[in-house]
Amino acid sequence: MVAAEFIDAHFHLDLFKDPAPIIAECEARSILTIAVTNAPSVFFHTQRLASSTKLIRASVGLHPELVHSHAHELPDMLRLMSETRFIGEVGLDYCTTDETLRAKQRKVFEAILDRAASLGDRVLSIHSRRAAGDVIKSVGTAFKGVAILHWFSGSSRELDRAIEAGFYFSVNPAMVQSKSGRTLIAGIPAERLLTETDGPFVEIKGTKLTPRSVQQAVNGVAEVWGASVESVARTIRDNLKRLGLIEM
Ligand code: MN
Repeated sequence: MVAAEFIDAHFHLDLFKDPAPIIAECEARSILTIAVTNAPSVFFHTQRLASSTKLIRASVGLHPELVHSHAHELPDMLRLMSETRFIGEVGLDYCTTDETLRAKQRKVFEAILDRAASLGDRVLSIHSRRAAGDVIKSVGTAFKGVAILHWFSGSSRELDRAIEAGFYFSVNPAMVQSKSGRTLIAGIPAERLLTETDGPFVEIKGTKLTPRSVQQAVNGVAEVWGASVESVARTIRDNLKRLGLIEM
């Protein structure tokens, strides 16, 4: 267990050409960073990068948008899930209207959820674009682990159902800048709030975000909630302690 001041609960370290300065940034600014991956075949690279650090956690994933081409990696995914507590990026993406592909995504996601439940104590970073309803249904209300909805963009009703089911929410700087994102943030309970950047997929003013930008997410939440930046940061640290991700 480590001490940390901030959390980036969803960051794609492996997609940056030069990871060394980013790792140094996480350590210098005390940012616990969950380095998600999109396919099990690229997990080892991130695992190697994370192994010599204090604050980077390598996360094994199979992104729903890659299920059409990488479903054959599911057995590797299930096997590697015993090597790390962190699972992601996983989930469902219904931007595709192809019902066969949606069903294939559900089958892969449900296999991952079953394996996570049997291993226990796993922390999942979950993608749910246009699929919040089915993601909430698949994870269920009795999931044994931590289910984090990354960049949640469902309806307010779906948000309420996700809260009821026990999900956490990782909020990023793009969300705090959008009207719909701010409406959702207003409805997230303090005890379920985490932050993320989703770099390099989130860019602000032409710059691909790195973990230090979680500060912008903290600032944005503080603004929406009418709370102080320090109290929001403290709330997030309390959540991380309760989840056993940082020391008390
Ligand atoms: Mn992502």
